[in-house]
Amino acid sequence: MIKIPAPVRPAIAPIAIIAMAALALWLGPALPPSLAGLKEAGAYFVLLAGAGMSLWFNRGRAFVAAMSLLLAYAGYRIALDFGTGSFAARAVYTAVVLLVPLNMLVALLLPERGVSYHGDHRWLLVAAGEVLLVTWIASSGRSELSGVAWKEMLDHWLLRTPPTPLLGRIMFCAAFALAAWRAWPPPSQKQGAPVSPIAVGQAGALAAFFIGCEWAASQAVFGVFTAAAGVILIVAMLQESHRLAFNDELTGLPGRRALQEAMAGLGPTYVLAMADVDHFKSFNDTHGHDIGDQVLKLVAARLAEVEGGGRAFRYGGEEFTVLFADMTLDEAMPHLEDIRASVAAYRMAVRGDDRPKAKEQGKKLRAPDPEDSQPPDKILSVTISIGGAAPGDRANTPTQVLKAADEALYRAKRGGRNRVSK
Ligand code: GH3
Ligand code: MG
Ligand code: MG
Repeated sequence: MIKIPAPVRPAIAPIAIIAMAALALWLGPALPPSLAGLKEAGAYFVLLAGAGMSLWFNRGRAFVAAMSLLLAYAGYRIALDFGTGSFAARAVYTAVVLLVPLNMLVALLLPERGVSYHGDHRWLLVAAGEVLLVTWIASSGRSELSGVAWKEMLDHWLLRTPPTPLLGRIMFCAAFALAAWRAWPPPSQKQGAPVSPIAVGQAGALAAFFIGCEWAASQAVFGVFTAAAGVILIVAMLQESHRLAFNDELTGLPGRRALQEAMAGLGPTYVLAMADVDHFKSFNDTHGHDIGDQVLKLVAARLAEVEGGGRAFRYGGEEFTVLFADMTLDEAMPHLEDIRASVAAYRMAVRGDDRPKAKEQGKKLRAPDPEDSQPPDKILSVTISIGGAAPGDRANTPTQVLKAADEALYRAKRGGRNRVSK
C-alpha cells in the first residue's frame, strides 16, 4: 500500500472533491432530467449549508469564504439574466473574481476570532458595501454618461476578461499562497502545531473556485466548481471538529475518547500499556508548569514513534496509553522497552529561572541576536515507567486489561521507576 506522508494527508479531501466535480461535469449530460435542476440549485444549497455550519461552529474564516462564494454565485446567476455578453454580466464577473479571493485573503491576514466575535458585524457592513458597489457599477453601465468610464475601466489590461483577469489571478495566487502557508507553515513558525484543516480547506476552495472562474462561460462548470468549493469548506470544518473531539490539544496525540473507540473495536489478541512520567509533580514544582508541558510534548513525541504497529494515546494528565492490536505481550515488550529507553536518553535544554519573560522572548524570536543568546542553564531529562498487560485468565475485557496494565505500572513504580513491567 502507498503510504502518504502525514502532512500531505489533509490535502486528499480537497483534491478528491475537485476530481469528483470534474467527473460530475464529464458525466453531466447523463444525469436524469429530474436532477438537472441540481446544477443550478446545488451550489446555493451547499454554500448555505457551509455558511450555516461555520456560524454554528463559530469559524470566522470559513464563514467569510462561504458567504463570499454564496454572494458571488448569486451575483453570477442574477447577471446571467442581463445576457452573458452584457456590461452588467462582465462587471459582476470581474467583481466576483476579485472580491472572493480578496475577502478570503483579508480573513487569512486577520486573526481568527470566530464569527461571534463582537467586532464581526463589520463583515456584514463589508459584504453589504461590496454588494452595493457591484450593483451600482453593474447598473451604471447602462447609462451613457457613467457607463463609458466604467467600460474603460473593465477594458484595462489588468481587468480584461475572459477568462479570469490578470488582477484576479494575482489575487487568487496571493490568497492561495497565504492559505497554504497557514496550513503548512515553515518549521520555524510551526511549533509542533498540526496541519490546520480549515486552512487546507480554504486553499482547496480557492483552487476549486478558480477553476470555476476560468471556465465561467459555462454555467455548469461555474456552478459545479463553486459547489465543490462549498463542499471542501464543509469537509474541512468537519475534519477540524473531529480532530478537536478526538485529539489532545497539548500533545497532538489521540485522546481518551479515541482510546475508548479503539478499545471497543479490538479482537481477541492485543496489548494495552500504561505509561506514566516519573516524579512529574516535583518536576512541575521545580521547573514550572510550562516546562512541565514541554516535557509532556516530548514524551508524547517519543511515544508516537512506537514501533510494532503500536498506537499511543494521551490518557490524561501525565499518563499515556499504548495499544498494540494483534500482538502478544512478549512481542510488545521490546517495543515498550524501546520507548522507555528513548525517553530516558532524551536531553532537554532549558534556560534558568532568570530567563526572559514571554514578551521579551517573543521579541527575541523575531530578531535573533547571536551575542545575546545565552547557553542553556540546565539540561533536563525525564524517565517514564510502563506497565503492559494482555487479555488472559484474570482480565478479559479491554477495560479489565487496562486496569491490569495500571497495576503493572504500579509494580514498575515500586520497583524503582524508569522500567517496564508486566
Ligand atoms: P510518580 O513517579 O509516582 O508518577 O510521581 P508523580 O509526581 O509523577 O505522580 P503524580 O500522579 O502524583 O503527579 C502527577 C502530576 O502531574 C500532578 C500534576 O502536577 C502533573 N500534571 C498532570 N497533568 C499535567 C499537565 O497537563 N501539565 C503539566 N505541566 N502537569 C501536569
Ligand atoms: Mg500519574
Ligand atoms: Mg507520574
